[in-house]
Amino acid sequence: MDEKIFLDGNFFKKEDAKISVFDHGLLYGDGVFEGIRAYNRKVFKLKEHLDRLYVGAEIIKLQIPMSKAELEDAVIKLLLENKLDDAYIRVVVTRGVGDLGLDPRKCKKATVFIIAGKIVLYPEKYYENGLPIIIAKTRRNHPFSINPCVKSLNYLNNIFAKIEAVEKNVEEALMLTIDGFVCECTGDNIFIVKNGKLITPPNEIGALNGITQGAVISLAKKRNILFSYLMMKPEDIYTADECFLTGTAAEVIPVVAVDGKVIGTGKPGDVTKSLIQDFRALVKLEGVKY
Ligand code: PMP
Repeated sequence: MDEKIFLDGNFFKKEDAKISVFDHGLLYGDGVFEGIRAYNRKVFKLKEHLDRLYVGAEIIKLQIPMSKAELEDAVIKLLLENKLDDAYIRVVVTRGVGDLGLDPRKCKKATVFIIAGKIVLYPEKYYENGLPIIIAKTRRNHPFSINPCVKSLNYLNNIFAKIEAVEKNVEEALMLTIDGFVCECTGDNIFIVKNGKLITPPNEIGALNGITQGAVISLAKKRNILFSYLMMKPEDIYTADECFLTGTAAEVIPVVAVDGKVIGTGKPGDVTKSLIQDFRALVKLEGVKY
């Protein structure tokens, strides 16, 4: 199929969608992005994703040269153009073309592009049997350096941890904060269930305020599951009754072993299973139609 790419106001064929080698998104990882899903011709939490994109851009003092409404419109047009009922959508805003110096003032206009394609999920066996993960030696960026609440194009911190995961033959790695508290995975937030209570780390310690994380917290509240944001140490994960990850690409995925230590029964737990079920129902129901 002739996949189109949105780039600075125009729709290009995939092979014609090109950006400059002087774009600071490429030279310095200077920019922000979002990963968004569409399910059955509905874009899930589109407003929330675009809000997070604009907040991130504001934090890094990047002016997005389109309004939220224009960007929303571009996402929908691209999905229609590419005839996608289900999709993974990547919205990227870079600092734009500058010179070889760091100074963002040299970049006169941000570059905006959107890719919408088919989603490649984790194999279904991981949703049924759970995922083994590791705790990486790489620590999450301190919020005073590159704040993890900005979904920036600079993902080297996450990539280091991902390389550790690959070396240990697992799909995901959990990162701790500089002080050794449980933070988040390379592309997902983490939850545990302990004595019937659902816990995730507070985002302020240096984790992305995940859209899926937020949706799961609301679903848990609807089920009257007790929930708290709590600081945790690795031991809290090792001794949890259940553990799972949340993210736009992964959705809700059970974790059954961390660093080779079995979590709970070693099988996806009941709370996790109900939340997977609720989340799958929610994405079918909610979203911006196109
Ligand atoms: N943490 C990181 C580092 C991520 O890259 C992602 C994926 N965007 C998440 C958490 C999960 O966030 P969301 O549910 O909004 O996709």
